[in-house]
Amino acid sequence: MAKVSFLGLGVMGFPMAGHLQNSGHSVTVYNRTKAKAESWTNTYGGHMADTPAKAADGADFVMCCVGNDDDLRQVVLGESGAFSTMSDGALFVDHTTVSAKVTRELYEASKIRGIGFVDAPVSGGQAGAENAQLGIMCGGDQDDYDKAEPIMQVYAKACRRLGPSGAGQLTKMVNQICIAGLVQGLSEGLHFAEQAGLDIPEVVSVISQGAAGSWQMSNRFETMANDEYDFGFAVDWMRKDLGICLATANENGASLPVTAIVDQFYKEVQAQGGGRWDTSSLIKRLRNAT
Ligand code: NAP
Repeated sequence: MAKVSFLGLGVMGFPMAGHLQNSGHSVTVYNRTKAKAESWTNTYGGHMADTPAKAADGADFVMCCVGNDDDLRQVVLGESGAFSTMSDGALFVDHTTVSAKVTRELYEASKIRGIGFVDAPVSGGQAGAENAQLGIMCGGDQDDYDKAEPIMQVYAKACRRLGPSGAGQLTKMVNQICIAGLVQGLSEGLHFAEQAGLDIPEVVSVISQGAAGSWQMSNRFETMANDEYDFGFAVDWMRKDLGICLATANENGASLPVTAIVDQFYKEVQAQGGGRWDTSSLIKRLRNAT
């Protein structure tokens, strides 16, 4: 069993670190807001540390799930960052959704220190993290991935290396691009059904069995019909992710017209106070327009 450190006990990190501790690894956690780290050790046992550097000291694996590019830089390279104490041969695994640019920057910084770095953003949301059913999209050196995979398998439904450093983050961008247009399409379909006076559950029971079916349709139609969004994947996070997708498309020449317009629709949802609402709240702005 390995000595593992986990940085960032948010909606995702809290249960992920818990699965590692429950599977027999020796886990030390760090969270910026100390109360969450205390709550974690009360729930799972294990150890907590005051800084990323202290948590990472002597660890074989340092797993991380914080917010955005700047947050990641801070916990890795900041004054009390993890890289300052990680030893030669240790491995950093980043589950945060960030740009491929910061990923490659940290990969290069890790090489200078003899540390391994695997980008490993996740999909599956809060439920996936709690039920150990995450999709994990990885980039980095093959030998580093091979070492990290058994650790990640503890909370994975599917875990794969897609290529060199940054490939995991690029794959996560594909995931978000596919979801953005789909949620807008689903919102328009359900909104149209409401305007036409159809019975939504009846409509979905038929069309979800054919080509229109999707995870979003099966898992979100009911809450969308009930105008409930106080759960799930927050609009603020989605805008962060779409911003990364659009900036990357600017660099690689990809054309993302639907992604760009859906990003603007989410901006309107934020302006309505919906930054923490689930991404299915796109339907709300259609209802508001009628
Ligand atoms: P969250 O609940 O907001 O938690 C964020 C965590 O990062 C908290 O522990 C926070 O500490 C920590 N953090 C943020 N900035 C920091 C900094 N500068 N220094 C130290 N710690 C910092 O977020 P989440 O939902 O777990 O999401 C985490 C990441 O996973 C994001 O990149 C998100 O896009 C991605 N993701 C989320 C989901 C989802 O459904 N939620 C699904 C897939 C991917 P504090 O407690 O002190 O604030």
